[in-house]
Amino acid sequence: MKPDKNKLLSWAKRNIKLFNLPAEDIHTITLAVAGECNLRCRMCDIWKQNPLKEEVLSIGVLNNIFISKKLKKLKCVNFTGGEPFMRGDFEEVYKNFTYLHPKANCVISSNGFFTDRIVNFFRRAGKTGRISLELSLLGLKTHNFIVQNDAALLCLNETVLKIKKLFPDLSIAAKFTITPWNYSEIEETVGYCNKIKLPVYLKMIENVKSYTNHLNYEKNALNKEFLFTDQQKENIVNSLLKVKGKSANGDFVGLLIKKLKFGYMHSSCFVNFNSMFINYNGEVYRCRELGRIGNIGCESLDAMITASSAKAAGFNGKNPKCLKCDSLYRALI
Ligand code: SF4
Repeated sequence: MKPDKNKLLSWAKRNIKLFNLPAEDIHTITLAVAGECNLRCRMCDIWKQNPLKEEVLSIGVLNNIFISKKLKKLKCVNFTGGEPFMRGDFEEVYKNFTYLHPKANCVISSNGFFTDRIVNFFRRAGKTGRISLELSLLGLKTHNFIVQNDAALLCLNETVLKIKKLFPDLSIAAKFTITPWNYSEIEETVGYCNKIKLPVYLKMIENVKSYTNHLNYEKNALNKEFLFTDQQKENIVNSLLKVKGKSANGDFVGLLIKKLKFGYMHSSCFVNFNSMFINYNGEVYRCRELGRIGNIGCESLDAMITASSAKAAGFNGKNPKCLKCDSLYRALI
């Protein structure tokens, strides 16, 4: 199901001026507010981490991030994890954020397992018009196998149905990551999402060193864990061609098809450098190519942003050689 055209148009109007922001003005920030997870996805290292309590971004540290001068023009925060709803004080984090950035949009990425916690969170969240909930759905047959929990799909479904019924204003969408385990279920899963009117975003698993793949990256690369055979790629292309118009990010699906057929996705980097990622342990990134720009526990965020901005501006849309990632850019849901 495609997102509402009017909603997209109004998003574009609101955000068009952001494309000309200097690299020092951050408009989108992704915050991994939890270093733990309640599921155990086969392609993810997060649940294997054992974060120390004092390592995880505290309320005080998060507040300092929210009041950063470089975040004055912030338009969107993406709370992710691990699983954000594992965090006991997540409501407080969210309330502090909306108090300090009342006009910003908020995307929460979750696996949807904790139905009651999620529903209660939105009951107390107040206006839900500026929040989007993005739930990871990994295939109708293999979801439970991939996340290694027999009740996961049932809980996820319950969450979707309850949220849709109780909070009709809330934008809710599914994210389907194509892996070697579920690639044959693309059409079926997108069809199901269309049937229940749940917009679905597609992306491919990437064999890159990242915060979800930092412990076993070398081993996975050696074992070609996330690589597809030529036959599998052909099957995926055929499925993607069929669902391109039915997914919420058909333009990105077009790029995925290009990547699978020709080996590259785009001719220059299109990561927006007015965005940044902060991991649960305070490590700050603007993109993989720039690497870690510092740690929030040792340096001020504003200083890190200033120090990295000239380099970031040089990359933005002008780096034809960087094909290091298949970054899923977001038309905000
Ligand atoms: S992919 Fe997401 S849901 Fe799965 S283990 Fe990792 S953090 Fe948890």
